[in-house]
Parts: sequence; structure tokens; C-alpha cells
Amino acid sequence: MPSRKEQTHAKSPGKPASPPYPPVGGSGEFMGHWQTEMAELRQRVADTDQALRQALAELQDTRQQLRDARTDQAKTEAALHEIEQRFRLLGESIPFGIWISDPQGALEYASPSFLEMTQMTMEEARGLGWTRSLAPELASLFLEQWRYHTQTGQEWETEHCIRGENGERRTVLIRGRPVRDAHGRITSWVGVHLDITARKKIETSLAEHVRKLSRINAELEQFASVVSHDLRSPLTSISGCAQLLKELLPNQSDPEVTELLDNIQNSVRHMGRLIKGLLTYAQLGRDGLKISQCSTQRVLTNVLSSLRAVVTETGAQITHDPLPVVQADEALLGQVFQNLLENAIKYRGQSPPVVHISARSTDSHWLFSVKDNGIGIEARHFDKIFQIFQRLHDDEHRYPGLGVGLATCKKIVEEHGGQIWLESTPGVGSIFHFSLPQPQAV
Ligand code: ADP
Repeated sequence: MPSRKEQTHAKSPGKPASPPYPPVGGSGEFMGHWQTEMAELRQRVADTDQALRQALAELQDTRQQLRDARTDQAKTEAALHEIEQRFRLLGESIPFGIWISDPQGALEYASPSFLEMTQMTMEEARGLGWTRSLAPELASLFLEQWRYHTQTGQEWETEHCIRGENGERRTVLIRGRPVRDAHGRITSWVGVHLDITARKKIETSLAEHVRKLSRINAELEQFASVVSHDLRSPLTSISGCAQLLKELLPNQSDPEVTELLDNIQNSVRHMGRLIKGLLTYAQLGRDGLKISQCSTQRVLTNVLSSLRAVVTETGAQITHDPLPVVQADEALLGQVFQNLLENAIKYRGQSPPVVHISARSTDSHWLFSVKDNGIGIEARHFDKIFQIFQRLHDDEHRYPGLGVGLATCKKIVEEHGGQIWLESTPGVGSIFHFSLPQPQAV
């Protein structure tokens, strides 16, 4: 027979053994005590088990986090590597030098173009080594500037001379910007070196040309004004003498002599007009264009009202498209329309003039056209008629004029950045076209 203890054991397999102290009191008291102990023990075991499971779960969690963190780190490293690769590729492929320096201005990275420009290796350029490429007499000034910017953190842009290949001096545009961390502290400087030698040469030669042109222009203007003033007084005296001679001639004098004296006076008057035309042409746009938003409709209305008499006299029909607002010098644009319309009426054929003014817009310009049904012009004269004093007709009576109108139109249109040209068929008519640039959106 198994003992009572053994029986209990047998009933509760797997349960912990009884405590090793002797039972106290009767068997009922012992049993109660023992069961309490067992329950506590079971509870403790269950708690420990629970704690162990929790710890295990946390461990697994931590392991997972660790694995995730490693993956993230690998991803970050890959991304960083890619950015670096891209940056290097950029540095190698763009045609200007890129550099990175520490917050104090010591060079840490220079792109191949930078090294080529400064004729240095990376090791030579590192730190402040690259400043040896600067033109020696300007180097200390440059370094002073650089110090100022690294100390104040102000962005930097300057033009400077460096020694290029074979000691040839090159002009370089240098730009630097500070890179700041989240607290606003400068962590590095990033900048570019751009070789602007060719641009500088062009700028210098352009400035030289502009100076030359302005001088020639001023001389021409002075010449025109001197010519006009100095020639006018002898003309006045020639005309006065012819008049005096006419008056001194006896009443029955030779009509041929009177005609000759009339011719002298007419020629003098014509010469006076030519001189005036020359002066007006030379002074055209002298004070610069007074560009404004100008309604071509209003310009045309004014021109048509000044031509009312000749329009009525010749029976001219003048029509036009809706006309735009353009950016132009209103007075000068008026002169262009005036000259073109006067010509369209003056160089009419047998029938009354029929004139149409049209306007259309292209991507970059307004295109105006003045079409007539006049005598037309042979193609070989297309260039000639835009030159000053060039006329195609000697018949002063039928086609009076000075040969200044179209030259004036050309000068005005070109001053505005446009062009003027024509199409024409002798005996059928002409179309004079001119363009004016439209302001471009930036
Ligand atoms: P002008 O009319 O005073 O002679 P322009 O410079 O205006 O001077 O014109 C130059 C020449 O071009 C004119 O002499 C004329 O022969 C020719 N011309 C100009 N416009 C026309 C036209 N619409 N039709 C035919 N010929 C023209």
C-alpha cells in the first residue's frame, strides 16, 4: 500500500513535492497549510511563466527592431552612396568648377573642372592651396574677402583673375553659399567657379563698339547740323541774288534769262528742303525712343485726319483691319504710317488709290502691311528705295518728294527692333510690310 503522502503524490502527478518540514497539528491542518503553499507556488510558477513569455516577446521585438534598424541603416547608406555618386557625376559633367569647403573656408572637395581651371591636383588645391592659382597681386585682397564672408556667413559673389594654362589670365566668377544645420550653424560652404573669360572679352569689345558708334553718331549729328546751318546762308544769298537780278532786268528782257533765274530759285528751294530733310533724318530718335503702350488705331486716326485734303482730292479709299495696341514711340510710329500712306496715294496709277492697312500677330511680333493699287516698283529697286535721297522718278511735278520718307521709316522701325520690306508688281501695286516686336513674357 502506498503511504498517504505517496497517495497524494500519485493523485497529483507533476505537482511540486511537499515541504521538507514535519506536519504541524493534525492532518487536516497540515493539509490546509500544504494546499495554500501549493496554490502560492503554482501562482508564482504561473507568474514566472508569464514574465518569461513577456520577456521573450520583448526580446523578439527588440531583435526585430534591431533587424529593421540594420535594414534602415543599409538603406540610408545606399541612398547616401547614390546621392554622393550623383553629386560626383554632376561635378564631373558640368562645365564649371564646383567646390566644398569647411566652415572656415578650407577646401575639402573640388570637381574636375575646378581642378582643370586652376591647373592643380586635388592634393595641391586642398585647404587654402587653391588660392595659389589667383593672380598674385590680387590674392591678398581675395583672401580678405573670403575671410569676411566665412566670418559673417554672407553669401558671396565676385569676379576674379586666375592664372590659367601657360600663365594666361582668365576671369572667373566665384560664388559661395553657406550650408547650415538645423540650428543655423554653418557646416560647410558650397560654391562654383565659372570661367567667364570669353564673355568678358565679348562684353569689352561690345562696349568698345558702342563707344565707337556713339562717337560716330555724335559726329554725324554735328556734321548734319553744321551742314544744314552753314549751307543755308549761302543758299539764302543765292536766292536773294537771283531775285535781285530778276528785279534789275529791264521789263522786255529775254524770257530765257527769267526762266533761268526761276530755275535757280527753284533749285535753291529744293536744296533747302533736302538739307532740312537730312537734318530731320540725322536727328531722328536722337533723344531715345519714348516707348509707351500705344494704340495704332489712334495713331492711324490722327494720320488720316492730316491726310484728309489729299484723300478727298484723289478720291482715295483707305480701309483697315482692327488695329492692336503696341509698345512703341507713338510720334515715330505716326511718321511711319504717314510716310507709307502718303506714298500709297502719291504713287497711284490711273485709278483712284485703294489702300488697306492690315495687322496680324505672330509669336514674337506684330506685322503691319500697307497695300496699295499704285504704279508698283521693280524688284531690283527694293533695297535702293530705303536709302536716303534715293528716288525712282525725276518728274518732280507729278511725284514731288525728297527721297527721305522710306529711309525714315526704316530707321524708325529698326530702332524699335523690327524690320521693313516690300512686295510689289509694277502696274499692279505694292505692299509695304513692317514688324514690331511684342513684349515677351519672362
Ligand atoms: P519720296 O516719296 O519722297 O521720293 P521715299 O523715300 O518715300 O521718298 O520713297 C523712295 C522712292 O520709292 C520713291 O521716290 C518712289 O520711287 C518709291 N516708292 C515709295 N513708295 C512707293 C509706292 N507705294 N509705290 C510705288 N513707288 C513707291
